[in-house]
Amino acid sequence: MDFDDTREEAAFRAEARSWLEANASPLEPGETNPGLGESDDPDTIRAAQAWQAKKADAGWACITWPEAYGGRGGSPIQSVIWGQEEGKFRVPPNVFGIGLGMAGPTLMAHGSDVQQQRWLPKMLRGEEIWCQLFSEPAAGSDLAGLRTRAERDGDDWVVNGQKIWTSGAHYCKWGILVARTDPNVPKHAGLSYFVVDMESTGVEARQIRQISGGANFNEVFFTDARIPDANRISEVGNGWAVAITTLMNERASIGSGGIGGGGGVKDLIALAREVRDERGPLLENAGIRERIADYYVRTKGLQFTSYRTLTALSRGQTPGPEGSIGKLVAAKMRQDMASLALELQGLAGGTLDPSLAVQDAAWQEAYLWAPGMRIAGGTDEILRNIIAERVLRLPPEPRVDKELAFRDVPTGSQG
Ligand SMILES: Cc1cc2nc3c(=O)[nH]c(=O)nc-3n(C[C@H](O)[C@H](O)[C@H](O)COP(=O)(O)OP(=O)(O)OC[C@H]3O[C@@H](n4cnc5c(N)ncnc54)[C@H](O)[C@@H]3O)c2cc1C
Repeated sequence: MDFDDTREEAAFRAEARSWLEANASPLEPGETNPGLGESDDPDTIRAAQAWQAKKADAGWACITWPEAYGGRGGSPIQSVIWGQEEGKFRVPPNVFGIGLGMAGPTLMAHGSDVQQQRWLPKMLRGEEIWCQLFSEPAAGSDLAGLRTRAERDGDDWVVNGQKIWTSGAHYCKWGILVARTDPNVPKHAGLSYFVVDMESTGVEARQIRQISGGANFNEVFFTDARIPDANRISEVGNGWAVAITTLMNERASIGSGGIGGGGGVKDLIALAREVRDERGPLLENAGIRERIADYYVRTKGLQFTSYRTLTALSRGQTPGPEGSIGKLVAAKMRQDMASLALELQGLAGGTLDPSLAVQDAAWQEAYLWAPGMRIAGGTDEILRNIIAERVLRLPPEPRVDKELAFRDVPTGSQG
């Protein structure tokens, strides 16, 4: 495992830092950037778009993308270094993750030249924001069981059905959609993949209010919405293979640090130093120090595991299964750390009012956001299944509906 930058990596890091110093302000100690949960405000979206365009003009918008689409043509390790440096500065939330991290790579792998030229440059500049229309009320972990239908009508497809948990649908221009185009074949074989104009007739996004007060999720209803066949990605019936490309990129982007929300162990120590009981600062309590020390050790374990990924990237190799393991461990640990932070604050732990809560209620926000991180991009249980089957090579779960025509799969909603 290499802990240090190579000479080229150090030079790249210095170049990135010097551009950031000239164009943004560094974060103050203890300050964190706003998370995605606060991205439903139009001013925040505009600020994020302006920052993305500024980066695009200077060649920092998408480090690994080909120059033909406005990228830098750089390496994955350079992308990681850029992320590390940008994270030290005060910048708007990244509302482009689904486009740049998932839809973009999928279009590069499966889209035609015309489709790539139409969508990728504007995606990269943040001019058009993208959302992911995959999950449905009865299809999340079992995504291939989805029921939204797309039926061919001349040069169009007519779409009917419902999606849910669509992050950002209310401010996005485009969505990546998986729909059922043939119910007469087994579930994975009857799917096709489309790009939907979210402003078209028959597409309605309704925001869902979250426990944190934000409303970043939507339910999206399709009522005779028309999608031109020119917006179909890959062949009819090949939607599952295309969706897998999207999902692999999603897990990679979440595993590489997209856990988000709340501070680290240093912030927990600062909190325990600030909050007191009748005997003094809570940090002087041996029991609390022991709990914080435990998180410190686990954080270091995760950090060194992520260095393995970085080392593989730096050597031009493909990272191993650490991504699934990292996401599983980090999401649970974040939730536990936020829970301890609330406990330390006593009654103030139960308020989101920044004038009463310590550290601007960042831990309260983190606590409310944490359960979602254990679900998004593969739930804890699904990640355990993946680790069991693909890493430990244990026998796979029985999948009894795999060979049946989709219309013959019994479900509660079929009557
Ligand atoms: C923050 C966040 C952002 C999201 N953004 C989007 C988005 O933009 N677009 C989108 O399409 N979706 C999005 N989702 C939805 C997400 O993909 C789904 O919530 C996820 O796939 C789980 O599906 P589900 O909610 O239907 O739960 P289900 O799949 O119904 O799972 C319910 C429970 O059963 C367990 N379970 C299910 N199957 C198995 C199994 N085989 N073995 C063991 N346990 C199992 C699960 O682990 C879970 O505990 C988002 C979710 C979150 C939390």
